[in-house]
Amino acid sequence: MTDTDTTIGSGAVRYVVDGAVATITMNRPDAANAQNTALIDDLDAAFDAAEADDDVRVVILAGAGKHFSAGHDLKAIVGDEGDEWTAMRETPEGKLRHERVMYFDRCVRIHDFPKPTIAAVQGSAIAAGLMLAAMCDLIVAADDAVFANPVLRMTGAGVEILVEPWELGARKAKEFLLCAENWDAPTAERLGLVNQVVPREQLAEAARAMADKIALVPPVTAQVVKRSINHMVELQGQKQSWEYHFMAHHWTHNTATALGALEERKGRSSMAEVFADRDRGDAPS
Ligand code: ZN
Repeated sequence: MTDTDTTIGSGAVRYVVDGAVATITMNRPDAANAQNTALIDDLDAAFDAAEADDDVRVVILAGAGKHFSAGHDLKAIVGDEGDEWTAMRETPEGKLRHERVMYFDRCVRIHDFPKPTIAAVQGSAIAAGLMLAAMCDLIVAADDAVFANPVLRMTGAGVEILVEPWELGARKAKEFLLCAENWDAPTAERLGLVNQVVPREQLAEAARAMADKIALVPPVTAQVVKRSINHMVELQGQKQSWEYHFMAHHWTHNTATALGALEERKGRSSMAEVFADRDRGDAPS
């Protein structure tokens, strides 16, 4: 048995191993765990640690503070707090590479992670926050959890991996995305997006109880069954569908509409302000 609490990389993620369960916690609570380069790198390093430790049988992915994750860190994306990765976004080629490596591949790695994973979701799971949770095998949601992907109104063709049709079915996915719905935890449970809804204060305990049950399965058996179920979904074309969407998503990033919105952003406090003005009819579309 091990019991460690480790800060990974830059400190944007905490990594705790307790018995057979590793808990990886996004630790930018003041930014609603918005995913910047540091957080994405640290998440990847934490999954490396969990993969390498044979004592770890199950991984819980959590978010510190009020929210699971508000999505990608838009401050970095629009250039307010850029780094070498977000600087690539100046060109379509660089944007493609940034999103392929940091968003698409890093998420798919979690989806394909050999050991079973559980997302423990509270507060907001928005856009790429929802994408990240959906990469896990199971989702336990607090009763205050809200799931949304409102980026279509902001020109984005969803996020990089289109999880919604796989999670919600085609018809509900269209409603969710095109109407920019916010769906609460009971709705998400009814539609099959989450496995279980628990009171907020019991979230960590409920995720741990689920992990402890899974840890009773011999690791090789759990991993074979996970892979087999993923393979069944793969036979329905999941990865090809994700690849198609990724490229279509990128085409949309480079439309005149999307580039015009980024131009509009200059001198404004946020993208939200740009689109709020547009929706009121105060700004060009
Ligand atoms: Zn994108």
